[in-house]
Amino acid sequence: MSERSELRSELGVSEGPELGVSEGPEPGVSERSELGVRAAELDACDELAKLRAQFVLDDVVYLDGNSLGALPAAVPGRVDDVVRRQWGEMRIRSWEESGWWTAPERIGDRIAPLVGAAPGQIVVGDSTSVNVFKALVGAVRLAALSSDGRDEIIVDATTFPTDGYIAASAARLTGCELRPVDPAEVPSALGPRTAAVLLNHVDYRTGRLHDLPTLTSAIHDAGALAVWDLCHSAGALPVDLDAHGVDLAVGCTYKYLNGGPGSPAYLYVRSSLQPSFDSPLPGWNSHADPFGMSPAYEPAPGALRGRVGTPDILSMLALEAALEVWEGVSIDSVRSKSLALTDFFLECVDAYVPRGRVESLTPSHHAERGSQVALRCADAGEVMKRLIERGVVGDFRHPDVLRFGFTPLYVGFGDVERAARLLGETLS
Ligand SMILES: *Cc1c(COP(=O)(O)O)cnc(C)c1O
Repeated sequence: MSERSELRSELGVSEGPELGVSEGPEPGVSERSELGVRAAELDACDELAKLRAQFVLDDVVYLDGNSLGALPAAVPGRVDDVVRRQWGEMRIRSWEESGWWTAPERIGDRIAPLVGAAPGQIVVGDSTSVNVFKALVGAVRLAALSSDGRDEIIVDATTFPTDGYIAASAARLTGCELRPVDPAEVPSALGPRTAAVLLNHVDYRTGRLHDLPTLTSAIHDAGALAVWDLCHSAGALPVDLDAHGVDLAVGCTYKYLNGGPGSPAYLYVRSSLQPSFDSPLPGWNSHADPFGMSPAYEPAPGALRGRVGTPDILSMLALEAALEVWEGVSIDSVRSKSLALTDFFLECVDAYVPRGRVESLTPSHHAERGSQVALRCADAGEVMKRLIERGVVGDFRHPDVLRFGFTPLYVGFGDVERAARLLGETLS
């Protein structure tokens, strides 16, 4: 059976006419393209290749881990234990005896090294959107403590929509004006009125990596606070929050951290700011003595101040199991492989895709590249549909972007070569 018909039968897709598919025989092992041989060599010396076995995957080339990470093999058993034993048998005792109550901080500390944070600064819980709200309103309140007259929030004009919507609401609530600004223009937009700046570390559409150290220091020089959204960088590249003095940060856990659909997000509040961080959602879980049930609010010390209500234990403990794959994995080696994968993909696309058919929106400089490649293509929606039918899963972003995410923990160079080859066939 040809590779294509094997895939079709695995996917339950019936044979049918395909446009633009080359009709020649499938290349045999001896006739593999030079790129196929290179892919095999790169896979053979990939020190992270063994991690793929820790995920539930099939022969599909999965390049959508920047939207929903693949399932780590340890998760189903853990969820089963949490539901049947911890909940089913231990019931209420599990809040203490199974560590449910302290899960938000414990799992925050598990994420911390991946984003360059010392322990005690991250809590897990709620969605990214909710954490953007807590962080941004919190940042404006912190800015007001040190200087008067700061009544402007700057937001990444190219942001993922939810961050922009929440920033607009945060601005209305805090009496600030919202200024959408392209990240590159932020340094010149800063001024004595700027209270806080909300930026994305990696642009979800183009895969562009913004210069977090330089932008954070420009924001600080203007006397404002820097809030970073790490959704598309955490788990794919080093972030170094502490080293660069980031004030507050948020991120989701279901992309490169593989926590599962709707797994809870996280909030980072730099330790020196924690004593004055005034959360706009001070639920009872963030109280210094939650079981004192006092009518008067008194915030807990440390990262706990970022909690709100009862944590979503099932998804949170699934995330905890998912994070075990990071044991002994350095984020620097993940970054090296991520760059090698995206370089190799761009090289294969160049070789296999007819000239002029796609245009890369992803910066060629490593310093400006996240872990995805975005290709502009006039009929991107239709092209991605056909590619998915053939076993290469990326995604389509309106109106004309083909998006391919490379999760170094489970994507190999052979996957990359195959994805580019099938893309080339689809576009021929
Ligand atoms: C994925 C993503 C989100 C998701 O927000 P949720 O509240 O978790 O749905 C938010 N912001 C950015 C930049 C993202 O990439």
